[in-house]
Amino acid sequence: SSTPPSAPSNPLASLLSPAGSPSSPPLPPPPPASGGSHSILPFDTLFTNPVFAGGLGLASLGAAAAFGRRAFIRGGELLKRQLLVNVEISKRDPSYEWVLQWLAQPRDNSGFLAQRITRLRNLSVATTTSRPTNGVYAADEGRATHASFHVQPGFGKHIVRHQPGVYIAVDRQKASTAQTVTGEPHETLTLTLLWMHRHAIEDIFTQAHELAQSFQQGKTVIYTTRNMNWTVLGKPRLKRPLGSVILDEGIAEHILKDAQEFIKAQEWYTERGVPYRRGYLLYGPPGTGKTSFIQALAGELDYSVAMINLSETGMTDDLLAHLMTQLPERSILLLEDVDAALVNRRERAPDGYTGRTVTASGLLNALDGLAAGEDRIAFLTTNHIDRLDPALIRPGRVDVTVRIGEATRYQAAKMWDRYYGDMDVDHSGRERFLKRLHELGLFGGDEKDPAVPKRHTSTAAIQGLFQFNKGDMEGAIKMAEGLIPRTYEP
Ligand code: ADP
Repeated sequence: SSTPPSAPSNPLASLLSPAGSPSSPPLPPPPPASGGSHSILPFDTLFTNPVFAGGLGLASLGAAAAFGRRAFIRGGELLKRQLLVNVEISKRDPSYEWVLQWLAQPRDNSGFLAQRITRLRNLSVATTTSRPTNGVYAADEGRATHASFHVQPGFGKHIVRHQPGVYIAVDRQKASTAQTVTGEPHETLTLTLLWMHRHAIEDIFTQAHELAQSFQQGKTVIYTTRNMNWTVLGKPRLKRPLGSVILDEGIAEHILKDAQEFIKAQEWYTERGVPYRRGYLLYGPPGTGKTSFIQALAGELDYSVAMINLSETGMTDDLLAHLMTQLPERSILLLEDVDAALVNRRERAPDGYTGRTVTASGLLNALDGLAAGEDRIAFLTTNHIDRLDPALIRPGRVDVTVRIGEATRYQAAKMWDRYYGDMDVDHSGRERFLKRLHELGLFGGDEKDPAVPKRHTSTAAIQGLFQFNKGDMEGAIKMAEGLIPRTYEP
């Protein structure tokens, strides 16, 4: 075998180990001063140069610091994201008010202390005033206005103790720019909790909702429109007992039964793809209890009332359509004075411009057009049924039409019993009162006696008479003449 012994095949290897075999240990680096052509000296010089090495050291330190800082911030954010949970509630959401109310509730001592410390300078007061309006039953009827105040968390940040060891950071913020549609600034409430306490979120909302409901228990919430949206009118009112509104025989029972059956039949409608809507039209002269009855009925069915007056200034077709899409849940839509929409159509200017008012087609659309809510119960009232568009009274728009008329003998008797039943045990007072009303012709005259004038009175007037003579039957009988309408329209 003439093969030369292990000649290095790699020239680089031969360069690095000029003396011998590949297995020989690497040589120590040549001394810096030797200056051979294969040396890596320029680098070494650079690194051993104290100025360069120092600069490099500083630079790498700086880079490390920058990197560390970024990592720290990132880590902090990550940690925050991992450890905290935020819930943002918009003012437009119904839970906004509930949660605010819930936050304002006094808690146990330490919790309350925690609240006080953090929000001492940051409370705000919400005042609601209500004026008992005609037909709207209020417990404090008769007083000009009623104001109530409650304290709620002000704008800014607060810490509130929810349970021992569970704290909530509350941040209530107002947007600096006004909302374009309503002109009111938008508000948000952000609750921040530790991730491990996230289960408390459900508690908070449940408790807030229960609290809001407890305020409404036995009460009827009335919504009206303000700033193009639904808002609660004053405080929820005590439910008006259905029996306190006395309609002619069988009418209240008929409407109640119909509404109850409709509410029970939701499934029937859904299965058949029929819009789940029912409309009632109550018409008749003013002061006959239409509005009061609808409110009492809502109480009986445990519904709220969402009220719109079509003759109100600023009410337009667009606004009406918008309101239909936002109808508060479980509420009866009450459209008052629906004839106003039709009057406007007749009074339309020659150029077709109707001004800022609701048109007949706007009303029809609101009832069963695209804007109409999928499920709703609507009550329409009018004093002038003759002015209504016949297209309005069509199933799906108006299914039940009832005239609520002037006081009948039946109604006068029942109202008497409600006011004087306790003292008029033998009903003799009632009989004298009814006789007096008959003589005055207030039940539409007397068929057998043409001398008796044909007149009518309203249940509102009878109620007024009884209110004035509370506990005084004789006074009521003596003053019965006052029930004669001053301007009589046959
Ligand atoms: P309408 O809506 O028909 O104009 P309201 O419901 O506004 O009448 O009634 C006006 C006032 O008269 C209310 O205070 C109401 O309590 C009273 N009232 C009118 N009709 C009745 C009635 N049938 N039963 C009891 N109260 C009545």
